[in-house]
Amino acid sequence: DISRTAEHAGVPVYLIGGIVRDLFLERPNEDIDIVVEGSGIDFANHLQADYGGSVKIHENFGTATWHHPSKLSIDVTSARVEYYDRPASLPDVELSTLNEDLYRRDFTINSMALCLNPDIFGDLVDPFKGQSDLRSKTIKVLHNLSFIEDPTRILRAVRFETRFNFLMDKQTESLALNSMARMKDLSAHRIVEEMKRMFKDEKPPETIRRLFELQFWQQFGADDDIREESFVHASRMDMVYDRHPHFQSNKISWFDYFVIPFYHSGKSHLAKTFALTRQNNKFLQDIRDLTEIDGWEKTEGVGDFHRFLKDFTDDAILFFISKEHFENEDIIVSYVEKRHDIPPILTGEDLIQQGLKPGRQFREILMELDVAVLNGEIKTKEAALEWLDKYR
Ligand code: ATP
Repeated sequence: DISRTAEHAGVPVYLIGGIVRDLFLERPNEDIDIVVEGSGIDFANHLQADYGGSVKIHENFGTATWHHPSKLSIDVTSARVEYYDRPASLPDVELSTLNEDLYRRDFTINSMALCLNPDIFGDLVDPFKGQSDLRSKTIKVLHNLSFIEDPTRILRAVRFETRFNFLMDKQTESLALNSMARMKDLSAHRIVEEMKRMFKDEKPPETIRRLFELQFWQQFGADDDIREESFVHASRMDMVYDRHPHFQSNKISWFDYFVIPFYHSGKSHLAKTFALTRQNNKFLQDIRDLTEIDGWEKTEGVGDFHRFLKDFTDDAILFFISKEHFENEDIIVSYVEKRHDIPPILTGEDLIQQGLKPGRQFREILMELDVAVLNGEIKTKEAALEWLDKYR
């Protein structure tokens, strides 16, 4: 127990940040951060000496992570203050006291510490009245330059607003609006890191809408007038995934939400800067190509969709059919579900035995066979061979 180690190490030790907030909110949080008024690295070594496990030292930051054998891990920091030499850059680190550590944090609700030393166990250090803001469900910065120092905090504010059903106070909101233009000074990488966290968190459609209110998307070429359709698109996408057990809503990639405002402003190409993986790029390409293919919306059989959609990924198709009300939504979703296990009734080998020559026609025959199988027109090998006659 950390308390005992704190006592015999003879240093003040505090639980700090998000974990304190979540204790008050009675929400689970596995990220345990403690801060030591002394050397964090020494304290992590003390924990290891007392309870085993292992210590990983992050020399540059003067911090350490103690991994307990039970898989619990605790980040140990020295009370410190960070100086921002350039706005929108990563901070430098220097040793200082607990209050200064709290002062460099983002919001009052995240700037509380609970003492773990036995003599004053549970004492709350709350210089910015975070507890009172928790009660009034308010996100509030600690000082007026907060968002200038680090514009990603605006995105963090939105994440906490949405997750906890909180709101920024007036002053914080107007600071956010005034600093939003600085978002463009950030690297794509830093924005992506925040977007991933936001869109893996609760209620992504609300996040999209709130980011419109705060002029975030507008920095990247989207206009106010697509706010509602973007919100509706994201909500429909959630519903499509939710309604079909095959696609669990938590599988929707952050990127699929992120692209929505770009897509509706006709500027999907601008999202390319933020595409990290081959899948992200394929997704962008797919949704563009889907917009251009013609006539397929009127197709009726499950299998017939295969002709149009076989080369598109599941998430691109589900994104596309969520953008507006789609009469054929159920059939398309059912196609997307079924296409992953089409029974292989005939193989290439079978076709060769039937005297057909490998090549383009081959692929086409196998594709048409899949169409017929998906449509339920062909169920057995005999039926397939008979069907094949027309190609001979
Ligand atoms: P979550 O519950 O989503 O993990 P969190 O606040 O608990 O959020 P982190 O994002 O890991 O977890 O941050 C831990 C703490 O570090 C925060 O509570 C906050 O006090 C501080 N912090 C994190 N990012 C910033 C930032 N950009 N500026 C200032 N303080 C920050």
